[in-house]
Amino acid sequence: MKSSDIIIILTTFFLSLILLAVLVLLKNSQVINQENEYNETDTPDPSTPPIPNPTPSPTPIGSDNVPDFCPLNYAPDAFTKNFKLSEFNSKGTAPPTSIRGNIQQLMNELQIIRDTIGVPIIVNSGYRTPMHNENAGGAKQSRHMCGQAADIKAKGLSLDDLWATINRLIKSGKIKDGGLSKYNTFIHYDIGPVRRW
Ligand SMILES: [Zn+2]
Repeated sequence: MKSSDIIIILTTFFLSLILLAVLVLLKNSQVINQENEYNETDTPDPSTPPIPNPTPSPTPIGSDNVPDFCPLNYAPDAFTKNFKLSEFNSKGTAPPTSIRGNIQQLMNELQIIRDTIGVPIIVNSGYRTPMHNENAGGAKQSRHMCGQAADIKAKGLSLDDLWATINRLIKSGKIKDGGLSKYNTFIHYDIGPVRRW
């Protein structure tokens, strides 16, 4: 082996060592830079998945509070010119969306009554939760729990006149027949099965 060959081999060997050392140094400096970045910006660990924003539950609120005998009729809201949903609340509890369509049908009939008498109708009791219905001494199959009944009175109109008006509207086919009864302080009207008491 010639001396020049030995010089070439040694030179190659040392150059390789230097190159390796430079590479190791570069890699270390990158790690340090990354650490500094995290320290400076306080970026959360990227391996932790982001917490998704809570989305509204598609389950209708309180739908479990509706008895089986009630027809389900989903609607986001219920209103007419003179009535709004909150007037049918059960002691502060809004009717579940699963029966708001029933409330809407009832409201449509009440609006016809209201347009006929020309004075405001006061809803004493509209929708009732099963617990509210039990506490109020309501019937076991009360249509109030279905959002199909309202206990009402009218400003400046006797209960007899209100009852007679509703009865006339039913007879002439202007509003749905259902349950109708006069109590001491209100008229009960519902769009459930036809009955009188
Ligand atoms: Zn009633």
